[in-house]
Amino acid sequence: MPAPASSPGSSPDPAAALARDPNALGARLREVSQEAAARPGDVRVVHAPGRVNLIGEHTDYNEGFVLPVAIDLGIAIALVPTDDRRVEMTLAATGETLGFDLDAIGAKRGAWIDYVAGTAWALAERGVETHGFRGVLASDLPQGSGLSSSAALELASSLALSGGEVPALDRMTLALTAQRAENGYVGVNCGLMDQFASAFGKAGHALLLDCRSLDHRAIPMADPDLALVACHSGSPRKLESSAYNERRSQCEAAVAEIARTDQGVTFLRDVTPEMLEAARPRLDPVVFARAEHIVHENARVLAAVAAFEADDLETMGRLFYASHASMRDLFGISSPELDALVEIAAGVPGVIGARLTGAGFGGCTINLVRRAAVPALREAVMRDYPGRTGLTPRVFEVAASDGARRIA
Ligand code: ADP
Ligand code: MG
Repeated sequence: MPAPASSPGSSPDPAAALARDPNALGARLREVSQEAAARPGDVRVVHAPGRVNLIGEHTDYNEGFVLPVAIDLGIAIALVPTDDRRVEMTLAATGETLGFDLDAIGAKRGAWIDYVAGTAWALAERGVETHGFRGVLASDLPQGSGLSSSAALELASSLALSGGEVPALDRMTLALTAQRAENGYVGVNCGLMDQFASAFGKAGHALLLDCRSLDHRAIPMADPDLALVACHSGSPRKLESSAYNERRSQCEAAVAEIARTDQGVTFLRDVTPEMLEAARPRLDPVVFARAEHIVHENARVLAAVAAFEADDLETMGRLFYASHASMRDLFGISSPELDALVEIAAGVPGVIGARLTGAGFGGCTINLVRRAAVPALREAVMRDYPGRTGLTPRVFEVAASDGARRIA
């Protein structure tokens, strides 16, 4: 694996370095697994990245557009395949080992192994052959922070369950299978964006996905002066799953009302600003605001792609701030902490744009920054954020990276 462009630095997890060091992770596996110690030549290492979303938030389940970037933080699994239909995995960070039988996966248990078991379940449902393994997992991706550790875990697991290779599926089916694991087994009703990004990541590129047609395109981020910086608010996402489901139902409520007069509307993707305005008197004000975010956010994704392709960073910046304001004021998924991070960033010369990234309610912001201004942004956040919130932030520069793959 190439040296990372950045390191999480203040990561509290000393095992995180193993996620970037396949040799050391393989050695750790040989310590915890007799099978690996006996067959060191059969040890493989797979890796799947997390992601930031540049723009297009909560648009995926509305059949709209998203623009994520797979990043150089992710989950690595060292594994040795076995023929015993048993999966056992140890977390490098804690030493905890959990497992299951591929022929008796059973119900979810409310633990991290659910993401592995759910992936095995979803692969079997697709008719893909799976194999037992002993594995050790290391991650340098913060969990539960909107950088999509769950999708990274699903994608890394799908390779581990296929003997350390990419399963015999096209990449879109692979992403859909991982989404199915999270929806149908873990019970999280997420859209396709996260699994898509972890499967399709491409170094130096953002990834445009049309969540209706599943058409996608890699958009070069060629400007050498441009850096991507994630700022972690230090606050876990709160009320996330109930609030997420509530947003989904509000979007559906808007569609149901608009479809009474505009046939053919099946998702907010189909709704133009004019159609929405015409329906305003009939919509509950909160439902209207939710729909207004989605309708304009979809347009912002397409405008952002055009701006990227024209290397028009000023426009990108305006779109970032407009997206954040819309998530704060209309969609109601920001938090005082995320707002503080965006406000601090906006005051730093050389920061082009900032917005919350991921589902919201906590987690991270993503910042488009002129490379020379990265240290100033880091300093401003570390200096001003704790006083405003009582929380400790983390600042990482991230680089657009390749998708799930075998790395050793
Ligand atoms: P996100 O995808 O934004 O990081 P989620 O809540 O969707 O947040 O997924 C987080 C869950 O994924 C964790 O609660 C845990 O079950 C699992 N997970 C992610 N990374 C790891 C890890 N390094 N070790 C164990 N479990 C992990
Ligand atoms: Mg997730």
